[in-house]
Order: sequence, then C-alpha cells, then structure tokens
Amino acid sequence: MATEDLSDDALDAWLLEPDCPQCGSEDVTCLETRADGTKVWYCNKCGHTWAE
Ligand SMILES: [Zn+2]
Repeated sequence: MATEDLSDDALDAWLLEPDCPQCGSEDVTCLETRADGTKVWYCNKCGHTWAE
C-alpha cells in the first residue's frame, strides 16, 4: 500500500527553504521569522547562520 510522505503543505515549505550559501547543503532550519518577513536560517551541516 502506497503512502505519501510529503503533504502538499510540507512540499511547499520544503520548496521555500534556501540552500546554505556557505556549503550548499539543503539541510537547513528556519530559526526565526522577523517582523519584516526576513527569515533567519541555520545550516545543520556546517553551522552557518544567515538571514534572507
Ligand atoms: Zn552550510
């Protein structure tokens, strides 16, 4: 029996995640969304944090 691992919402969220500008990893976590809509990202691979 087939199952869907990703819901449409999860896929949309995944598509919005940037790649790490330092190492190119897609394994990033959003730490914070600021009032102006800027998001602070953390790379789980190299530990780099950045805002975009
Ligand atoms: Zn990285």
